[in-house]
Amino acid sequence: MTADVHEGAVEEEQTDVCVVGAGPAGLTLALLLLRSGLRVTVVEKSRSHQREFRGEILQPGAMRILDRLGVLEGARERGCHEHRRFRLMEQDRVLLDIDYRSLPAPYNHLLSIPQSHLLTQLLLSCAEFTTFRYVDGCRVTDLLRDDRGRVTGIAGDGYTCRAAVVVGADGRFSKVRRLAGIAAGRTEAFDQDVLWFKLRGDRAADGHDIRVFRGSGSSPVLVYGSWPDRVQIGWTLPHKGYQAVVRGGLGHVKQQLAKAVPAYAELIDDQITSLRDLSLLDVFSGRAERWATDGLVLIGDAAHTHSPIGAQGINLAVQDAVVLHPILVEAVRLCDTSAAFLSRFEETRAPDIEAMMRLQGMQSKAMLSTGAFATKVRPRLAAVVRHTPLYRRILRTIAYGNPSIRVAEELFVA
Ligand SMILES: Cc1cc2nc3c(=O)[nH]c(=O)nc-3n(C[C@H](O)[C@H](O)[C@H](O)COP(=O)(O)OP(=O)(O)OC[C@H]3O[C@@H](n4cnc5c(N)ncnc54)[C@H](O)[C@@H]3O)c2cc1C
Repeated sequence: MTADVHEGAVEEEQTDVCVVGAGPAGLTLALLLLRSGLRVTVVEKSRSHQREFRGEILQPGAMRILDRLGVLEGARERGCHEHRRFRLMEQDRVLLDIDYRSLPAPYNHLLSIPQSHLLTQLLLSCAEFTTFRYVDGCRVTDLLRDDRGRVTGIAGDGYTCRAAVVVGADGRFSKVRRLAGIAAGRTEAFDQDVLWFKLRGDRAADGHDIRVFRGSGSSPVLVYGSWPDRVQIGWTLPHKGYQAVVRGGLGHVKQQLAKAVPAYAELIDDQITSLRDLSLLDVFSGRAERWATDGLVLIGDAAHTHSPIGAQGINLAVQDAVVLHPILVEAVRLCDTSAAFLSRFEETRAPDIEAMMRLQGMQSKAMLSTGAFATKVRPRLAAVVRHTPLYRRILRTIAYGNPSIRVAEELFVA
C-alpha cells in the first residue's frame, strides 16, 4: 500500500478522496471513509512517523473514538503511560487538581502515547483496505483545478492524484490552505512560547500526573512522564522571547531551566548538551478564514490551530474527522463537492472550536500569566473553581470537547 515517489518519476492516479497529511486528522478520516466504501489516497511528505515534539497526550474524547475504530488497543500495546490528574502547583501547594478518575471508566485518565504509535496503528488499519493507497515521501506543491477553478486533485514530487475531493489535513502551516488562497487567520493570542525537551533517568518515570509548576521568579513549566522512561518538560518563555534567552548561550539557558525545575537540575546539566536538544514551539492560535472551497476542505490544525495548553490538538483533529466523515460520504455519493456543500463541516464544527479557543485563552491566563496581580488572585480563583460545578464543566469540556460527537457507524459497509 505504500508508494515512494521519487524525483523524476511521473505517476498519476484517480480516487474518491485525496487526503494530504498523515497526521491524526488525515489518517482517522481516511479510515472512516475506507470503512464506508470509498477509495482513499493519503499523501504524506514525511517517510517516517517519528513526531518527537508533537502532541502525545490523548484526551478521553479521542480515546473513545479511536477505540470505536479498533485502533486504541494496538496503539496502547506499542507503549504508553496513563496519567490520572492534571495539577497546577505553586511552590509545594496544589492550586488546581483536575482529577480524571472522576470520569466514567474506561476513559478516566489521560494517555501519554508517542504519536508514532497512534499513526502506525491507524495506518495498519487503513492498509487492510484494497481501496487505500499511501504515498509517503511526497510533498504536495500544487493543486489541480478545472477550467472553473474547482480543485480536482494535487501534485508534488512527480506524483499526481485526481480526486472528487481533496482534504487538506497538512497541519498548522498547511501548504494546501495556502495553495487554495485561504488565509490562516493567525492570532497572537498567547503571551508564551514553549521550549520542549526530554530527559532520561531514574526520575523520569516518576508520577502519574501532568503538572504545571510555577516557581517564584521563573516561568511556568509543564512536566509529565513520557513513554518509555522519559520526562517531557515544556518551559514557557515570553512569546517571541527565544532569541533573547539563547543570546546568553547554552550555559545561561541551562541555568534558567534548572531554576525553573530544580528537581531535574542534575539531569539537565548532564543531558542538555546543545541547543539542538531543545525544541521551540511558537504558540499561536488560528482559524482559517473558511474551511472549504469547491472540491476542497480543510480539517485539523490546517483549519484551526491551538495552543498546546490543555492538550487539545489530537482530540480536536480526531473529532474533526468524525464530523467530516458523513458529509464527505454524502458529497461523493451525490457528486456534489461544491464549497456550499462542504461548508456544512465548518457550520457544524466551528462552534465547538470557538468554545475550545475561548477556554484555552482563559486557561492560559489563569495558569501561565505572571505578574503580582495574577499571582495574588490565582490561588483564590483556583479554590473557588475547585468547589463549584464549574470544575466539572471544565473537566468535561477539556476531556471530551463536544461530548455528543459520535462515529456514523451506520455508513460503514461490510
Ligand atoms: C510541540 C507540540 C506539542 C503538542 N502537544 C500536544 C499534546 O500533548 N496533545 C495534543 O492533543 N496536541 C498537542 N499538540 C498539537 C497536535 O500535535 C496537533 O494538533 C495534531 O497533531 C494535529 O493533527 P493534524 O492531523 O491536523 O496535523 P499534523 O499532526 O500536523 O499532521 C499534518 C501532516 O501533514 C504532513 N504534511 C505537511 N505538509 C505537507 C505537504 N505539503 N505534503 C504532504 N504532507 C504534508 C505533515 O508531515 C504531517 O504528517 C502539540 C503540537 C506541538 C507542535
